[in-house]
Amino acid sequence: MKKYNFNAGPSILPREVIENTAKQILDFNGSGLSLAEISHRAKDFQPVIDEAVALIKELLNVPEGYSVLFLGGGASLEFCMVPYNFLIKKAAYLNTGVWAKKAMKEAKLFGEVVEVASSADANFTFIPKGWTCPDDVDYLHITTNNTIYGTEIRKELDVNVPMIGDMSSDIFSRPVDVAKYKCIYAGAQKNLSMAGVTIVIVKDDELGKAPREIPTMLNYQTHVEKGSMFNTPPVVPIYTALENLRWIKKMGGVEAMDKLAHERADIVYSEIDRNKLFRGTVNAEDRSLMNICFVMNEEYAELEKPFLEYATSQGMVGIKGHRSVGGFRASCYNAQSIEGVQALVKCMKDFEAQH
Ligand code: PMP
Repeated sequence: MKKYNFNAGPSILPREVIENTAKQILDFNGSGLSLAEISHRAKDFQPVIDEAVALIKELLNVPEGYSVLFLGGGASLEFCMVPYNFLIKKAAYLNTGVWAKKAMKEAKLFGEVVEVASSADANFTFIPKGWTCPDDVDYLHITTNNTIYGTEIRKELDVNVPMIGDMSSDIFSRPVDVAKYKCIYAGAQKNLSMAGVTIVIVKDDELGKAPREIPTMLNYQTHVEKGSMFNTPPVVPIYTALENLRWIKKMGGVEAMDKLAHERADIVYSEIDRNKLFRGTVNAEDRSLMNICFVMNEEYAELEKPFLEYATSQGMVGIKGHRSVGGFRASCYNAQSIEGVQALVKCMKDFEAQH
């Protein structure tokens, strides 16, 4: 039976991206060696990084004066690298969930942290509005998509300070105004590649200002100067990222990804709102297009496990909700097809008809 991958991350990648990576793992560029066994300094690998960087700049329309890096350590390492490199005295954080909180915790090691707003009291079911950000902060940190709770800031915020964005779970799903950011980072394992690499976009002239010694590996300047080759980079995940970037470009770029994301999400949210068994967990205006969270309506609470079993029997994979929300989460990243979300909706309709 066909499987539909709704995992929250690591998650679905386009089939051709997996196939092309598999070919290169068997024989890299006809060299007779595997991509997994070549040196990152092999002459054929530099063009991989160069093309990936060029495609990221092209797809996100990155202005002059920014560098694109491929780093290890996951987005979690960026929680500390960001304040290490950018927090001079005071930083602002918008608390929209677990990942934002983790980022804020690290920042407190380096200076004063202002929480501009939080939706913690409502289990992060909305994006706080109507708050102001102090003018004298070094940056405002936001998590653009909250993978666990299913809320998203999809429109650029109108703030008067430079931002830093954790875009781990919605990068390349929409156009971004990079000029509003000092730094953007994203673990690759949602919309870009397999786990093992993090992409970071940094504004060059913001580096070197922090009033502290920074360990070499944690200093963005090191990686800018060495073109992400200061130490051994994860070549296979970077190659997969390149294949995926080529795929995104071929599909029409981030504008096309944005359109598709709206189409997919409309199909699923419309069914959640129509179906008597289910309800969404998030304020309608803040609903994520990437992670669609829903639960059983109270009077049907006992059907949660049976629905999960039924959907699983129909090929749905990874729709169990995160334990802090419960219910279900259908993650719909770039590679999720309209067919996939239609299959999920069919399960919801069929299950409703059975009860
Ligand atoms: N930020 C967000 C928004 C995430 O969804 C995740 C992982 N799910 C992380 C950060 C942490 O990423 P990593 O596991 O790559 O450290």
